[in-house]
Amino acid sequence: MTDTARTVIIRDTGGPDVFQIEDRPVGDPDRGEVRIAHKACGLNYIDVYHRSGVYPLDLPHGIGMEASGVIEAVGEGVTHLKVGDRAAYASNPPGAYCAARVMPAAQVCPLPDAISFEEGAAMMLQGMTVEYLFHRTVPLKAGDTVLMHAAAGGVGLIACQWAKSEGITLIGTAGSDAKCQLALDHGATHMINYEDEDFVGRVRELTNGRGVDVVMDAVGKDTFEGSLDCLRPVGMMISFGNASGVVPPVDLGMLGKKGSLQITRPTLFSHIADHVVCQEMAQHLFDKVASGAVTINIGQSYPLDKVAEAHRDLEARKTTGSTILTL
Ligand code: NDP
Repeated sequence: MTDTARTVIIRDTGGPDVFQIEDRPVGDPDRGEVRIAHKACGLNYIDVYHRSGVYPLDLPHGIGMEASGVIEAVGEGVTHLKVGDRAAYASNPPGAYCAARVMPAAQVCPLPDAISFEEGAAMMLQGMTVEYLFHRTVPLKAGDTVLMHAAAGGVGLIACQWAKSEGITLIGTAGSDAKCQLALDHGATHMINYEDEDFVGRVRELTNGRGVDVVMDAVGKDTFEGSLDCLRPVGMMISFGNASGVVPPVDLGMLGKKGSLQITRPTLFSHIADHVVCQEMAQHLFDKVASGAVTINIGQSYPLDKVAEAHRDLEARKTTGSTILTL
């Protein structure tokens, strides 16, 4: 165990140039905490919101919500992990872009031997998000139809496979023909290149005018209105992110006019705040991967000191599937 660890921090919000990498003290775990030596960290779009200030942090602050590694020390009261265990997590507070850290143990999960550290770092945040979107937000069932935007991204490729494994028809959107093909290869039923084609009209065509049961929209500002127009009466709009910009305030009366639509704005972190629920969600994800129903597509891997380049590529829509930082 070393006293210090290479750590990415920001002192100001802004573009990818605000990242600084320095050796920071790690410390020992307190009650309810563990110390984990990372093998890989996951890169997620939420990290862009933290870096740019869309989701404010008290500065200076670490960045990154997900990683995998080996438990180095365990605080009092932690019973589900021991020194030497392989582990992975998605968790608050941000600070996962580092070689080692002390953090709350409740959301750290034992990582099955069959899942590599790279897969573990790539899958926890995006995979548990898909778990709650398909099982805890609305009661989706076989035969239902879902519209998922950015279906070739990290959350997207897991969602395509998850939908197929549950007998759910997934209509996806993506920003290029190559991305559309990738999502089809991962189980999407239909894909729409929303750079070339009006996705609302195409969704109406594909559903014989009815509309979809559920929209999963984390693109945000650019797709929000169109997404509502893709829903069947009393359908559910799940707005869960803002890659293109924050969604403006919603006129509730408009939901009535468009057909008694429902709307929710969930976050992973309210779902995994409870230790038992978090471990259940992780186990469900591990089972999907172990069964072969879901494979984790790591589209990009960057060494930790190339974190700025990784963020530039993610924001420029150059990435597909999941992205990791290696140590
Ligand atoms: P992705 O890998 O999906 O990357 C974002 C994708 O969004 C891009 O690749 C791009 O795909 C699409 N996009 C559309 N418009 C823009 C734009 N203007 N700028 C940048 N990207 C754009 O990221 P993640 O899988 O990490 O996350 C996907 C979304 O889900 C994010 O919005 C994230 O915040 C959200 N999320 C929400 C969670 C929650 O619990 N609420 C948890 C996890 C993720 P294309 O080129 O195909 O359009």
